[in-house]
Amino acid sequence: MAAPVSIGDAILLSQLAYRLGHAVISGRKQAPSGIREVQNQLYALGKALESVDQCTEKQIQSQIQQSLRTGHQASTEGGGDRYAALGMMVKNCRDTLEQMENFMSRYRDIEQPADSKSSSSNWRKEVKANWKKIRWTTETGELDTIRGNLKVHIASLNLFLSGINHSQSKQADGRLGDVHSMVSDLHEWFTKNLKDPRDTKKRGVGGPGSTATNSPTTVHHALDLVFELSREMRPGSTPLVLCPRASFRSGWVDSLVEPSKHAGSIFRCRCPGESHFDGVQYRLVPISLVVRLARQTPVWQIFCVSDEITSLVITGVAPADLAALQEQINLLAASQANLSATNSSSVYCSAGETGPISSVLDCKSETSQFQGQITSVTFISGADRFMQHSIDTVHIFHYRTEGNVGEDMRRNLLHQTWAELVVQPLATGPTTRFIIRVTRLTNIVNGNDLRAVGVLDVFCESQNEDGSNDQRKCDKVEIVCATARSAQKLRYNLEWITQQLQLQYLQFPRLSERVVAQRSCRDVMIDHLYLSSPQAIIVFDPEKQLHRLILRSSSLAAAVTMELPEAVLKRIHDSTSTGAEVMPQAYFVEHSRDGAEVETRLSRFPRELLEAPSEELGRLSL
Ligand SMILES: [Zn+2]
Repeated sequence: MAAPVSIGDAILLSQLAYRLGHAVISGRKQAPSGIREVQNQLYALGKALESVDQCTEKQIQSQIQQSLRTGHQASTEGGGDRYAALGMMVKNCRDTLEQMENFMSRYRDIEQPADSKSSSSNWRKEVKANWKKIRWTTETGELDTIRGNLKVHIASLNLFLSGINHSQSKQADGRLGDVHSMVSDLHEWFTKNLKDPRDTKKRGVGGPGSTATNSPTTVHHALDLVFELSREMRPGSTPLVLCPRASFRSGWVDSLVEPSKHAGSIFRCRCPGESHFDGVQYRLVPISLVVRLARQTPVWQIFCVSDEITSLVITGVAPADLAALQEQINLLAASQANLSATNSSSVYCSAGETGPISSVLDCKSETSQFQGQITSVTFISGADRFMQHSIDTVHIFHYRTEGNVGEDMRRNLLHQTWAELVVQPLATGPTTRFIIRVTRLTNIVNGNDLRAVGVLDVFCESQNEDGSNDQRKCDKVEIVCATARSAQKLRYNLEWITQQLQLQYLQFPRLSERVVAQRSCRDVMIDHLYLSSPQAIIVFDPEKQLHRLILRSSSLAAAVTMELPEAVLKRIHDSTSTGAEVMPQAYFVEHSRDGAEVETRLSRFPRELLEAPSEELGRLSL
């Protein structure tokens, strides 16, 4: 029966890690590189546990001093969860160290006569004596597991430590911060998956035909898709190119669910005569998602773990490969939606009509660029004004939510019709955060001076500490930044997300919209734009009470979308007999490596694509 573990045990475990690290190599003149790696990991874990001990001691000291100064009980708001997670992490470390200890002692049992079995207190001496005889090759399976676990422990603890330093220097609550959610998610993931891969918890999404299904075409796409992979040291710094022609390894998403079965890097190098990932293995972590970043040129970010948690960016995707990339993004997102048990800024759960539904992060502004840069946010609704000062930061998040489109009742991740501008106050008031819903039609305007940005006619929500929330439609939200440059950046990010939402509207059926009809068509040229094996989708937007026809090439490189108000539908219907051409408003979307261009003009309705109308099209009188 294992004894309970406290954070205070960190220092004892640190000493155990050092001792094991020493013992694992002693008596071996030429240790195989695998054992050297385990030794290095044990030392690194010892160091991390030592730092946890020092760090928590410092924290407790400063809390005591603070309470003496103020005469109040020091606030532990936000800290409770964090330390509970840390306690679990320390416990996980102990389990792995004990597994290692056990592993080493088993060899001692083999090498020693049965009657001379010593008590566990002095076995280390004997291990030292007999270690060199151990046949490592026969037990690499278990050693690999231990090695993988050690890697996660070190990464989690270092992440936790960087989170503590971050919140100490910024005096931020960090509730929404990447680091904090990464720590809790990592801990969740470890306890659920890595420690006992057989015990994988899975909800019943992703049945036949869902996006999570790994069909043969998926594998084919995964191998065809090539991109440039870089590593970002810090947001804003020049990324380091790891491989100019990287691709996902076949079955890479499965390593999220069963990391022990699918060990190895999730990326492959496809450069002729090169091998850019030699010796470096990037693996998925619980928050791994491929997320589009708010930048002019298309960039996707994914967090992976090698020696530490790393932000990798995917660029240089050819327009012809967009559908293949989207397929991989969907596979990982669907897996995350299935696995997620806790809410974070990456994945959250909400109540649906038939049970819980997950939402998965799809686009985001770059974190930390607005930290400490927002002076105030004013919400204006009629004659009411509410001004919030003391703001930590703002984020822009856009999610996709599980939903059904069409009549096949498949569960897909569909774009929400809005993005969230999340305003995060410093932890001083009753409101934990404000959410401003930006849509594709939201107007972003300049404020009263160069440091202000205005957002017009938006739905706003405040989430309060007691769990309640208030919702309100605002005529205007005015955000004042510390500098004109920050205001410019914020405005850029807001405009970028409205454009992104518009692009989604032009290419996909979105959450709560209805697919009226859908079919594959032969290649077609509309004005100057060539669409190869396009899908024709007629979508009904219940909010605007508007139909639209989406014609989208199978590669997602180009699309033409026509809005079809009632009057246009009637003209199309009437012209069936007369043969007169109908020219609805059309949007031409063209993707390049540098981004997407949208052109708007009147264009001929491609009636020939909709020949032999289906029953649904008949209902629309097309
Ligand atoms: Zn390469």
